Amino acid sequence: LISLFDSHCHLTDRSYLTNLDEIIQRAKDNGVLYILTVGLNIADSRASVKIAEKYQNVYCSVGIHPHESQKAQEADIKELQKLTASSKVKAVGETGLDFYRNYSDRSSQEKFFRLQIELAKSLNLPLIVHIRAAYPRAQAILKEHQYFSGVIHCYSGDENFACWAVDVGFYLSFTGVITYSNFKGQTLIKKLPKTKILIETDAPYLSPVPMRTRLNEPAFLKYTALALAQIKETTPEDIAYFTTQNCFELFHIREKI
Ligand SMILES: [Zn+2]
Ligand SMILES: [Zn+2]
Repeated sequence: LISLFDSHCHLTDRSYLTNLDEIIQRAKDNGVLYILTVGLNIADSRASVKIAEKYQNVYCSVGIHPHESQKAQEADIKELQKLTASSKVKAVGETGLDFYRNYSDRSSQEKFFRLQIELAKSLNLPLIVHIRAAYPRAQAILKEHQYFSGVIHCYSGDENFACWAVDVGFYLSFTGVITYSNFKGQTLIKKLPKTKILIETDAPYLSPVPMRTRLNEPAFLKYTALALAQIKETTPEDIAYFTTQNCFELFHIREKI
């Protein structure tokens, strides 16, 4: 029996509103024994904590997504801090920079990225970092704050950034994108140490092959695990073991697999 850890998904999404029990049961039936649901803003972070407190195998993060930063206020950081009182909160995020969509202006993205780095640092919690089309800027900000605990989720950067990130202490996480026929990152993944790789669904987004036409859910993580096993030339059991161990390590979770 394999045990997988979905290190990043959004169980608060309205598409799961009526069937969350089923979604979590189906995850278990497919070997996904642990799930971390990720907060996008204050209300969503609050809802994430509620879900994590309801389900024994679900953990959460609290944070303000770069898309949400323009609507955020500095007082929200205090709210995030209050939410971390729950023992189910294992990280700060998702935070970071998204200069691809630019749903929020760059200065508010940078401001809330910095505030959340400092929050994570003060609480000794890892960061869940979202970076799109902003790798050099994100790197500069992380270096300024000298805090390198966390995961770069849905990794889409180049080899240089990846080498720097794992060297300083970050993990890199991969989604169902690695199952796509146009995925170009095999060489990079082959080079990465197994001790630095996580997997995630980012559900409800990014359904893996062969579930492209379906709404994504944690149960589909196995397809990403299988694709990763092929790239790393190892067994799915090995992938399940090391990616789950890595999550336990990063999120400071003590559990028996
Ligand atoms: Zn993201
Ligand atoms: Zn996300």
